[in-house]
Amino acid sequence: MPHSSRQIVDGLYCYIWQGRGNNCNTYVLANVLRGERPHVIIDPGFVVNEMGERCFDSLMVAMQRDGLTAEDIGLVIDTHTHPDHCQATEIIVEKSSRKAGKGKMGQAIVALSGEEEEYYKTVGERMFGMFGMKVAKLDPFLRLTEGDLSLGTGQGKVDLQVLLTPGHSPGSICLYWPERAVLMTGDVVFHGSVGRTDFPGGSITILKQSIEKLSQLDVEHLLPGHSTEYGSIVEGREMVRRNFNAIKFLV
Ligand SMILES: [Zn+2]
Repeated sequence: MPHSSRQIVDGLYCYIWQGRGNNCNTYVLANVLRGERPHVIIDPGFVVNEMGERCFDSLMVAMQRDGLTAEDIGLVIDTHTHPDHCQATEIIVEKSSRKAGKGKMGQAIVALSGEEEEYYKTVGERMFGMFGMKVAKLDPFLRLTEGDLSLGTGQGKVDLQVLLTPGHSPGSICLYWPERAVLMTGDVVFHGSVGRTDFPGGSITILKQSIEKLSQLDVEHLLPGHSTEYGSIVEGREMVRRNFNAIKFLV
């Protein structure tokens, strides 16, 4: 199966892409939001990638094995708007509104940083054309800014922090969950590597500042947007620290 699945801390499912072509890793915070659609998905990835692999179908199969469905997703957070992270956003919104068709209201909402939304409208959309793909419809309802992002209430409540970490893309964000020392890094930091800066709007100088900022956090589980030859998730505070030390030489 192109996606492997594991639960890294209670309720946080990691879907690590293992196909031949490109796609991002996807993370799901299960049963967090109140109401009909309790799950939060971060970076749903490609629908179909450059090698014709049906990434989204694979993700759905992997999620279903964990008892999670797209219809139950209430919030899609895209760390940035590159096609390999956000193309499937539109399908999830569609699927969630089909659930609404059974006499229920609403649909999944989409969250992006304001900076990334601006970039997407002016430049980012063209990335889809560069890859010969149909432009993804992203209608952000929630414009994320740096700071606290509290999801849900009561027992399932998850208090995240949004960190603006440009460099790979002008409005890239990382998500930090201090209580569990979890950091989702999108395409800023990988296992033994960093995000490329040669796409439109990329900047190595700014990426360096973003990495410096992330390296100050207390992190036990570093969840990157892609796997590398060195691995995918970086686990343990000591390994995370070593990873930051190693990649600082790359930028
Ligand atoms: Zn990217």
